[in-house]
Amino acid sequence: MPLVDLLGRPLRSLRVSVTDRCNLRCQYCMPEAEYAWLPREDLLSFEEIRSLVGVFASCGVDKVRLTGGEPLLRRDLHELVRLLAVDRRITDLALTTNGVLLSAQAERLRAAGLMRVTVSLDTLRPDRFTALTRLTTHARVLEGIDAAARLFPSLKLDCVVMRGVNDDELVPLVEYARERHGEVRFIEYMDVAGATHWAVDTVVSRAEILQRLAEHYGALEPIDATTWAPADRFRLPDGTTVGVIASTTTPFCSTCDRARLTADGIWLTCLYATHGLDLRGPLRAGETAGQHAARVEEAWRARSDRGAELRAAERERGIYIPASALKGDVHLEMHTRGG
Ligand code: SAM
Ligand code: SF4
Ligand code: SF4
Repeated sequence: MPLVDLLGRPLRSLRVSVTDRCNLRCQYCMPEAEYAWLPREDLLSFEEIRSLVGVFASCGVDKVRLTGGEPLLRRDLHELVRLLAVDRRITDLALTTNGVLLSAQAERLRAAGLMRVTVSLDTLRPDRFTALTRLTTHARVLEGIDAAARLFPSLKLDCVVMRGVNDDELVPLVEYARERHGEVRFIEYMDVAGATHWAVDTVVSRAEILQRLAEHYGALEPIDATTWAPADRFRLPDGTTVGVIASTTTPFCSTCDRARLTADGIWLTCLYATHGLDLRGPLRAGETAGQHAARVEEAWRARSDRGAELRAAERERGIYIPASALKGDVHLEMHTRGG
């Protein structure tokens, strides 16, 4: 029997957070002054991550994305890539990074077997970058993007669009990505836990993003790909492609084949889940891979999550989880569960 959840969705994609730490403080993800962190001793070792990824691969996962926090803060990340890349069941091994440390590590990561890189880039303006992230490392992000464009066959640039913050940069970002043979993906600002400054009027919808692009470029043609990927892709009249991830206004829960593993081994079956399954405890207690797989399969068969759809259906949509509640449970934070 194929492994599907209660809504018929297979388990195919796993986002692995390798650290909850970050070297930026993006307004839409970590806007608070202070954060609590996962205890160091709870972080999974690379060997432990490899074991659990192997268990997920035996349950059908073939896409793995390393994320965080900022994954490049995890020392010797390329060693983890090397361990995962030898598993032939993993046909897509990717990384999402803010790019600050990428230029120094891109070559090692590629050599270790990393296949694809997505860099978050919300603005081309250094002053805005600093206002948005509280850091002055914009030039290093751009260097990281150039290194990735040189070394990797596929480069995606993810941009969270916020009204009044960067929504006047859609066209410059499309052009910037095109010059590097990359694809920009515009992401609607989501009210995930951690986004404690979220407000409905700061969201720029997919419809508005498309309209603004069409005003500049002319009609956009949808790329009709039967896909489980979150981005809807479009072709501009000159052939350039862009993606839009409309998690807020047009959630794609019905085709969601993704789950997330936190850096301390909690498995979450939805970005909006308020609790997950502890896999670190049983792993460290000596449970076998077969026992893990049975646990994962049982949880996936019982899955009915559709967090973003439920949020979208709410009439009075405000902050999902207030900062005071987040302080009591770091596992709720976006930077802990991995975007
Ligand atoms: N630090 C890395 C980075 O920024 O690329 C990886 C982790 S980050 C949590 C992963 C992705 O989540 C980023 O592309 C980020 O833009 C996105 N993200 C974080 N908070 C978000 C929010 N409130 N709405 C939409 N996307 C968000
Ligand atoms: Fe920004 Fe990523 Fe860090 Fe969140 S985890 S603050 S999105 S760089
Ligand atoms: Fe998947 Fe949950 Fe996101 Fe919906 S909200 S797409 S179920 S992770």
